[in-house]
Formats: sequence, C-alpha cells, structure tokens
Amino acid sequence: MICSICPRNCGADRSREFGFCGAGDEIKVARAAPHFWEEPPISGSRGSGAVFFSGCNLRCVYCQNEVISHGAFGREVGVDGLLRIFENLVNSGVHNINLVTPSHFAVQIARALEKFDSPVPVVYNTSSYEKAETLRCLDGLVDIYLPDLKYYDSSPALKYSGAPDYFENASKAVLEMYRQTGDLVTDSEGIAVKGIIIRHMVLPGNISQAVKVFGWVRENLSPETYISVMRQYTPYGEAKNLSPIDREISVREYSIVREKISELGFTNVFYQKKSSVGEKFIPDFNLEGVDL
Ligand code: SF4
Repeated sequence: MICSICPRNCGADRSREFGFCGAGDEIKVARAAPHFWEEPPISGSRGSGAVFFSGCNLRCVYCQNEVISHGAFGREVGVDGLLRIFENLVNSGVHNINLVTPSHFAVQIARALEKFDSPVPVVYNTSSYEKAETLRCLDGLVDIYLPDLKYYDSSPALKYSGAPDYFENASKAVLEMYRQTGDLVTDSEGIAVKGIIIRHMVLPGNISQAVKVFGWVRENLSPETYISVMRQYTPYGEAKNLSPIDREISVREYSIVREKISELGFTNVFYQKKSSVGEKFIPDFNLEGVDL
C-alpha cells in the first residue's frame, strides 16, 4: 500500500519498500510477553500482555527500545500470527493485550482485532504521533488508550524526534482517543477495563513541556482524566552526547513538575519512583512469544 496513515506522510509503497517507520506491509513483532512496569491499573498482579511491534514512526533520539524502533528487529507474523500471539498471551493469564508502538500497523491491527473476540481489554500504547482519522479504524476495537503526549512545542519535537508538527497531530489524536473511550474505568480490583491514561515522560532540561502538556490536558479533557508523570528517562543512544538530555532528570525538576500538576488540580495522578530509572527496565528483545 502507498502509506499515509501517520503524520510522516512518507508515501512509501510498503508492498515493496520500508517506510520512514521501517515497516513493510506485514505486521512485525519483536517480543510478546507479560510486562509488569506499566501503571498499576494496566500491569496489575498478573502483568500486561505486551506486544512490542518492530519499527516506529517517531524514532526519538533517546529511545530506549532503539533495537526495535530504529533497527526494526523482529519477525513478520501477519494477521494470523498476531492472532496466535494474542491467544497465547490471554492463556498466560495477563490482564490485557497491550499493543506497544502500534501506530505504523494500525490498519493491520484493526483487521486482526475485528477477528478477535478478546476476553480481556485491548490497550493501545502509543507515542501519540498519530492521525486522528487513522485512529477511527480502531473505534470499538480498542478499550484503553495509553498515549504518551511527549512535547507541546515544535522546537523539542523537532530536535529530539524530527517532528515539528508533533503536537498539532498528537493533540487531535488524543481528543479522538478520548472520544472513543472516555475517562478511565476500573473493575473492583482496580484493573483498567476502559478509558484513557495520558502519559508524559519528563525530559531533563525540558520540564516546561510537562507543564504545558498537562495544562492542555486540564483545559481540554475532563478533570477526572488519569495522568501518568514518568520520571524513568535514562540517556540512551545518541542522547548520551546531547545536552541537556545527556543526564537523568533531577529530583528538583521532578518536584517542580509535581507542584505544577497539583496546582492544575488533577486528582488521578500516577507518579514514578526514582528507582524506576535505569537500563534494567529495557525489555530483552529476543522474539519471546513470537517464535510460534
Ligand atoms: S506509517 Fe510508516 S510508511 Fe506510513 S506514512 Fe507513517 S512513516 Fe510512512
């Protein structure tokens, strides 16, 4: 297909070449296994069934999953293979199916989900660099959106992700996600069954982005919106030599962001502990769960 499903609009003919995202037509996966490091309503006690897709349409310079996002490591599985992956994850007892970096396969994933009567919620875990019109193909198929709203201003979006139009697209995408699912709903055990959690990973030297992003959320979504303020940033790849993101965020930076969030009046907020920082949290991309 000639592809324009994401804001890159790179126009690749994915039947014979890879797009900017590194993807061809076939769904490609690098790992499918229970994952325990998402927010508590997503990971619960039995883990989230994370399916890590190969390739990425954003390709941030600091990406910790570089081997799959930039290198597109993985195995082509097609729609039928993806359905077997879903079934195996459900049989392992996970709380949900968690589609990680799915944007460049949104259309193929919708085809798979139409054939899959999932007994657990389906989570769409994205960088938010999406077209709202593409997300409409997932309406009724995705139960929970987990968008990372990464930048408000064009300048850091250009510098770190080569996407100066990031917020223009991501903000419309988040509104479409919210239209589809509404606020987060949990079951009696606190596990998410429907809704949206808006994340933002605070970058060192860029706390104004966190304040602006959550300010926008407060103005445009319900006050009950669940947000997740991530402090897990660890310099990785090119970012190790790129100031100011060549370091972890400081205690003071995270504390300022927390104060601002409190001033904005959010009540449903997930914060991360400092112990969540480090390369030990990067999954091993070894085709686990993909070797069908
Ligand atoms: S999904 Fe990939 S191939 Fe399609 S427009 Fe975006 S970057 Fe290009």
